[in-house]
Amino acid sequence: MMHAALLSVGDELLLGQNVDTNAAWLAARLAELSIMTVEQRTVGDDRRAIAEAIRELSSQRDVLVTTGGLGPTLDDLLREALGDVLTPSKELVTDQGALEHLEDWFAKRGRRMPMLNTRQAFRPSVMRCLPNANGTALGLAGRLGECQIFSLPGPPREMQPMFLEHVVPEIRRRPGELEEVILTASVQEFGMSESEAAQRLGPLMERDRNPTVGTTASDAIVTARLRSRGPKPIAQRQLDETVDAVERAWRPYSFGRSQSLGESVAKLLRQSRQKIVTAESCTGGWLGKVIVDQPGSSGYYLGGWITYSNQAKMERLRVPADLVERHGAVSAHVAKAMAQGALDASGADYGLAITGIAGPDGGTAEKPVGTVHIALARKGGGKSDSIARHFEFPGGRMEVRDRAVKAALQMLRFALLDVPTTTPLLWEKIEGARTQVARVHASPSP
Ligand code: AMP
Ligand code: MG
Repeated sequence: MMHAALLSVGDELLLGQNVDTNAAWLAARLAELSIMTVEQRTVGDDRRAIAEAIRELSSQRDVLVTTGGLGPTLDDLLREALGDVLTPSKELVTDQGALEHLEDWFAKRGRRMPMLNTRQAFRPSVMRCLPNANGTALGLAGRLGECQIFSLPGPPREMQPMFLEHVVPEIRRRPGELEEVILTASVQEFGMSESEAAQRLGPLMERDRNPTVGTTASDAIVTARLRSRGPKPIAQRQLDETVDAVERAWRPYSFGRSQSLGESVAKLLRQSRQKIVTAESCTGGWLGKVIVDQPGSSGYYLGGWITYSNQAKMERLRVPADLVERHGAVSAHVAKAMAQGALDASGADYGLAITGIAGPDGGTAEKPVGTVHIALARKGGGKSDSIARHFEFPGGRMEVRDRAVKAALQMLRFALLDVPTTTPLLWEKIEGARTQVARVHASPSP
């Protein structure tokens, strides 16, 4: 397995003014070439720090890719730093081809080349220039000991084509390396906390295992990331087996590999030929939006109601006034009545309703911000066939509503798969249960 290091250069990265997307993009491309990135480093526009990093990162590595620091201005010092490492005590040389490229670049745009840009034709004598069709900064290629060094411009729209066109074909492989590959896959779930999800994976997460499995959580979705190494057919088989094992361990919460929750529900609706309608209060149409994000949604989505006021709930969905008075608009009773009202008015098979308090205002001790009731009514069963779940979602207005939409989709998915309705979901408030998953809502000070 070949090893690579990445070096990102620029004060703007250290100051947090720009996010380093180059390293992520390069690491993913290198992995596709079965080259494992073992270190990423960021340094500012400081000649000594850059030289030091180049020296350290190239030792014991097969490939070093740097980005940034190749601009025309005096704070772009990568060329000088490469010279300090590769040809110490020698001057940089001017590359004639590069100079022509620069003059050409400006001539084509009807401008005279500013003097400063001639710096971009400098290179250490032992390096070659890599052409740039999308900007003035030329790339550089060379080697230090066993390590191949490629230096690319910082702007992604210049860096990416240069890497694909001029670096990929040049990366020299060690003999016998070709058959070894890295394959990746992921599995996602909604409804279990990350720690519970990890616990269910048990020994699958041991660090010295191949394929490796790690988890990440983002926007309430937990993802298992799998990486398999070895000769291709074996690596693929082991990857498939591990994906299956993770999906089994996470049942019924796991909803797919790369597909989203919305896609997974769409697939089930198509297969089952059932139709749905939505009735939304605090999510204001977000659930409908996520459903319609899927191409072909007209095959199963009849439409929805956004009933934000009590009056709209009563007039348009025939939610009985006394339910609203007795239990409040944010209650299991009203959620069920909304789902039933939408179902009755439409002839769909399922009605899905959301009502809640997204905040930041409107919370009370009894119904804090994040309180959401989600109901699912099913045709034919009468009122007894509707279920409602009570959640207390953590987070601000956006997070509460995002989580409500995802929980609603997962409830529908569970129904389509005949998952028992007693299967708990993360952040659900089960009456009488003392401990539920961590509630991190901003409660009013006592
Ligand atoms: P350069 O002139 O080669 O130093 O590149 C400067 C510009 O490239 C910065 O202002 C950023 O917009 C972009 N850039 C540099 N490094 C990165 C990076 N690691 N990730 C994403 N963009 C970058
Ligand atoms: Mg720079």
